Amino acid sequence: MIEFKNISKVYGNNHIALSNINLNIKKGEFVFLVGPSGAGKTTFIKLLLKEIEPTNGEIIVNGTNITQLKRKKIPYYRRNIGVVFQDFRLLSDKTVYENIAFAMEIADVSSKDIKRRVPQLLALVGLINKEKLYPHQLSGGEQQRVAIARALANNPSLIICDEPTGNLDPDNSWAIMELLNEINKSGTTIVMVTHAKDIVDRMKKRVIALEKGVIIRDEQRGVYGYED
Ligand code: ADP
Ligand code: ADP
Repeated sequence: MIEFKNISKVYGNNHIALSNINLNIKKGEFVFLVGPSGAGKTTFIKLLLKEIEPTNGEIIVNGTNITQLKRKKIPYYRRNIGVVFQDFRLLSDKTVYENIAFAMEIADVSSKDIKRRVPQLLALVGLINKEKLYPHQLSGGEQQRVAIARALANNPSLIICDEPTGNLDPDNSWAIMELLNEINKSGTTIVMVTHAKDIVDRMKKRVIALEKGVIIRDEQRGVYGYED
């Protein structure tokens, strides 16, 4: 479902962030993207979201060459990807319900479908009785569950998680990983950037390690491989 063909990204100052990356991620895979700071992980994700353009190469997602995607089509393309961040990024002046509903409103989903879908998503992430609360009334783990529900709102085929457990204690981190694992088992592809060694080592998923813009390791049932 995701194919990087000879992808390089050179930033303005001749800084090579990614160098001739080739990889394939199949539908339904769960992939950890690891590597030290500056390795190119954020660049990889920005390319996938079409927030930046590669200097060389092609990126194919669900059969579409996104490097050739017309500007007008970018919002539709992005709707097919849910994103979960370390700092949750919920709208603080909207309730749990409204945060999820809003993601559907901007995708032109009918209010009838929103009313049907939001409770399903709340049930999935275990927050049925919290729909009227605001983000600041929730624990970090709960805020991340809302963010995951929002990421799933428009039924994306891919979820990108950028350090989703970075602000959570170990118990909440594991609960989030269990939720992501369930979502993955129902067919959604997951690409997760993380520095959480314990999580990567225990999940036994595919691990792609980047260093200085190059893939140095790509293993099914891999390990984190660094000490931090
Ligand atoms: P990671 O997410 O693994 O820490 P990044 O993708 O953020 O790595 O960065 C890869 C390399 O590209 C780093 O050396 C970084 O300094 C450089 N870089 C990232 N963004 C820019 C930018 N906008 N301009 C110049 N260099 C950048
Ligand atoms: P944790 O310590 O597990 O991160 P908190 O102590 O922040 O969580 O919150 C515990 C529970 O209390 C959560 O379920 C949260 O939704 C609820 N809660 C916290 N603050 C408020 C508030 N201001 N109004 C309503 N519920 C709240």
